[in-house]
Amino acid sequence: MKGKLILVIGPSGSGKSVLLAYLRTALPDIVFPVSYTTRLPRPGERDGVTYHFISEEEFQTHVAQGEFLEWANYGGNHYGTLQSQILPQLARGKVIVREMEVQGAHQVQKELPPEQLAIIFINAGSWEESQRRIRTRAPISDGELMARRRHYEDEMGFMQKASRVIENPDGRIEKAKEEFLKAVRELSLQ
Ligand code: 5GP
Repeated sequence: MKGKLILVIGPSGSGKSVLLAYLRTALPDIVFPVSYTTRLPRPGERDGVTYHFISEEEFQTHVAQGEFLEWANYGGNHYGTLQSQILPQLARGKVIVREMEVQGAHQVQKELPPEQLAIIFINAGSWEESQRRIRTRAPISDGELMARRRHYEDEMGFMQKASRVIENPDGRIEKAKEEFLKAVRELSLQ
C-alpha cells in the first residue's frame, strides 16, 4: 500500500496553523512531521512540537549531508523537512500532512510520484487581511513583514496547482475547519 503526503500551502497569516491544530485533534492517525527551522520561537511555541528550532550551522550540516527532502529560505530563515521524516512513513502507507511554503513544495513535486502527493491551498483573501492576522499573532519586525509580503504573490500563484482550495476569510473558520477535514479525508482515500 502506498501512502500519501498532503501539503498545506497558503500565504503567511492564512490560517494554516489553526486548521492543522484542528486536524490533529480530529484525525489522530495522520502523521504530522515536525520540520526544522532556524527562526526563533514565537511566544508559546515549543521546541520539538511546533518546529525543531536549530542553529544555522546545524541546518547547513543537514543540507551538506543531503538529509532534507526539501528545504527553503523564507523571510531570511531556513525551513526544511528531512527525508527520514517522510519516506519511511510513505512506504508504510501512512497519510502525512505538512504545511510548507512554495519553494519546498516545488522540490517535493520533483521527488514524489504525483499519486503520492496532494496539495491543499488555504486562501484567506487579500494581503491586508493576512497582514492584520500576522501582526495579531506575534510581534514582527517591518523587515520580516515585508519579506512575507514579497512571498504573498508567489503563494497565491500556487493556488491553481492545488488539489483543493479552502476559503478562510475572517469569520469563516468553523466552515473552513469542516471543509479542510473533509478534503484531507477524501484525498487520503484517493
Ligand atoms: P512560519 O515562520 O510562519 O512558521 O513559517 C513560514 C513559512 O514556512 C510558512 O509558509 C510555512 O508553511 C513554511 N514552512 C513551515 N515548515 C516548512 C518546511 O518544513 N519546509 C518548507 N519549505 N516550508 C515550511
